[in-house]
Amino acid sequence: RVVTRFAPSPTGFLHIGGARTALFNWLYARGRDGQFLLRIEDTDRARSTPEATEAILKGLSWLGLDHDGEVISQFERADRHAEVAQELLEKGAAYKCFSTQEEIEAFREAARADGRSTLFQSPWRDADPSSQPDLPYVVRLKTPQDGETVINDEVQGTVRIRNDQLDDMVLLRSDGTPVYMLAVVVDDHDMGVTHVIRGDDHLNNAARQMGIYTAMGWDLPVYAHIPLIHGPDGKKLSKRHGALGADEYQKMGYPAAGMRNYLARLGWSHGDDEFFTDDQAIEWFDLNGIGKSPARFDFKKLENLCGQHIAVAEDAALLQEIEAFLDANGREPLSAEQRDGLLRGMYSLKERAKSFPELLEKAEFILASRPISPDEKAQKALDTVSRGILVKLTPHLQNASWTREELEAAMNRFCEEQGTKFGKLAAPLRAALAGRSVTPSVFDMMLVLGREESLSRIQDQAA
Ligand code: GLU
Repeated sequence: RVVTRFAPSPTGFLHIGGARTALFNWLYARGRDGQFLLRIEDTDRARSTPEATEAILKGLSWLGLDHDGEVISQFERADRHAEVAQELLEKGAAYKCFSTQEEIEAFREAARADGRSTLFQSPWRDADPSSQPDLPYVVRLKTPQDGETVINDEVQGTVRIRNDQLDDMVLLRSDGTPVYMLAVVVDDHDMGVTHVIRGDDHLNNAARQMGIYTAMGWDLPVYAHIPLIHGPDGKKLSKRHGALGADEYQKMGYPAAGMRNYLARLGWSHGDDEFFTDDQAIEWFDLNGIGKSPARFDFKKLENLCGQHIAVAEDAALLQEIEAFLDANGREPLSAEQRDGLLRGMYSLKERAKSFPELLEKAEFILASRPISPDEKAQKALDTVSRGILVKLTPHLQNASWTREELEAAMNRFCEEQGTKFGKLAAPLRAALAGRSVTPSVFDMMLVLGREESLSRIQDQAA
């Protein structure tokens, strides 16, 4: 059974790279009837905050990346980590090192002077355990001194590290607290993690972590270290280029489905497929499809995919997401009339919007209420002549039944009778219905607003 996990350190928001790592782990588990676990790596007490944990949970929930089981706190498992270090001591796979900081420094100095490796070699590694001083000590892992550690990484391929380049790492500090590297391995093992999918900034850690698995006789997980996300310029991702928290993307009004689609494509591919649904991503996602070189963040592509997801989304679900978007931005909730109006207009609103602010801009005529105050350009379209046209048009509209065909027919007849071009009529209508000069089509607006509201808005300006 596949078990993946996302293991963020709660030192800030859920950044875009973390969100992608979480998504990859989620997709991998969901496509294999597996489990996706969440572990908060809060052992760094000085930098970990509950607010950051909260922000990470919120980000994941916005993205729809639900995890299985309880959220695990790494810090709360410190006793268990220390217990494993004890076990390693008992097995002889680890040892107590009493060297002081000064002694370690002196070792390095001497090694440097002799041109030898400065990796610390503790004199306590092979000391007789029965003759130990009563002094503070750290617990170190006995790393093999020859041979190599081979990481068979699903993305990076075979990565070899000579063991003489690894020192005997500390497992327990002199105050008895476990180091991060030990905690990760013990937690992954105890949680039954089978696949570790994470940023390639952890590739070097994998070699060290493997040493602990081996010493404990535990099965290794499958490793997949994914390249980091770069900016469009190929450099480290900057804020301007998208290195933002997941919540910022929600605030910018991108739909979660579009975001998932985009993040999935960021470093992973399935043939030429760009747009896909969650079900497709879950079915298709595989470690083979992850690229070896850093993906580049591209807002244009994100927006393009978001537009496609908005277009195919269900109206009611879209409305719900829009309301969450307004809430995330601290904006007024929608009134019942506005919600109804949006639902009526959604079929056309969702056709060409790449984000919720864009959609809401097109929906301005729905959200506005009487009396509509036309902006400057719209005001120009409401000169005396145009207002007269609206007055004359009114009875024709009153007599029409409120369908696209009838309204079109009535207006065409009117234009013929009056010898007016349709544009002459459309401009004041836009101004009256929406208070703007650039709007959705007048027919769409009249249909969405309905007979009564449309006629009232026209009346307001015709007088
Ligand atoms: N806590 C680490 C991070 O946030 C992840 C460690 C791991 O995935 O093994 O970068």
